[in-house]
Amino acid sequence: MRGVMMYGPGDVRVEERDAPEIVEATDAIVRLTATCICGSDLWPYRGAEPLAGTPQAMGHEYIGVVEEIGADVTTVKVGDFVVGSFVASDNTCEICLAGYQSRCIHNVMMGAIGTQAELARIPLADGTLVATPGQPAADLIPSLMAASDVLGTGWYGAVAAEAGPGKTIAIVGDGAVGLCAVLAAKQLGAERIIIFSRHPERQALAKAFGATDVIEERGDEGAARVKEITGGYGAHGTVEAVGTQESMWQAINATRPGGYVGYVGVSHGVELDGLNLFFTSVHLHGGPAPVRQYLPELINLIWDRSIDPGKVFDLTLSLAEAAEGYRAMDERRATKVLLTL
Ligand SMILES: [Zn+2]
Repeated sequence: MRGVMMYGPGDVRVEERDAPEIVEATDAIVRLTATCICGSDLWPYRGAEPLAGTPQAMGHEYIGVVEEIGADVTTVKVGDFVVGSFVASDNTCEICLAGYQSRCIHNVMMGAIGTQAELARIPLADGTLVATPGQPAADLIPSLMAASDVLGTGWYGAVAAEAGPGKTIAIVGDGAVGLCAVLAAKQLGAERIIIFSRHPERQALAKAFGATDVIEERGDEGAARVKEITGGYGAHGTVEAVGTQESMWQAINATRPGGYVGYVGVSHGVELDGLNLFFTSVHLHGGPAPVRQYLPELINLIWDRSIDPGKVFDLTLSLAEAAEGYRAMDERRATKVLLTL
């Protein structure tokens, strides 16, 4: 089968790999319908994060059709169309039952397996995969793909920011996750949704997803603008979907005392000074999103065409063109790339 391999910074190749086989009785093999390139794949691509191996199989987002199941798999069957998240989880341990499947005590990071490929082995299939009500129409593929990571992550960010009726929610980050957090905040009933963005196309999509205010300033200046337009209070909750020192403080400082920061941007070099943090009096809640918790609900919303998160994909290529997809995201010519098979 063909799969994406990274040999080093800037060096992505699509090549022939061994097809995966059932290893544990709880595994399933999925034939992918689509996969995509994640912002986090750019860290090793830019040399900002070492490769786990040379070459390294890439990708952790996936949807497709179950091709084979292990002897102990009972919740999905061969032929089912399934969506999974970037962390395989048993969905039965105490951490999973509390809603934190991404930190399951038996978790397997799908990035270590590599889902930018024709086939993928999914560990803990019963706990990880959610079957859709049937075979999806072609126009639902991008949105189901988004559910595998960016939508679920934006959703968790909005939940962690306590988005709800009457609330003002700010969102730091106008990438795919930030845009999905806007959509989530709207679905959760937020009254006012503020997106920080300087890109006209992303501002337009944020508004289509439900943003009511756009702020172009960043950092302390951006946080000050939120206070200004909320009567001096700050947002009730803020989603942090970037993961840098500046974006983290921007989120914390945009939030009123007693408010909530949902941090879902993977942290790179963030250090919080304790005394400064102490006087903010905000709740911090985040980490890798337990996408599995939200999948049944998100799949239903997509199936009913209530939401269209697939709009975050602004470039669609075939798996064979993956190297061009990485280049386009690295050069910021694309926000999020869908790879079809
Ligand atoms: Zn678990």
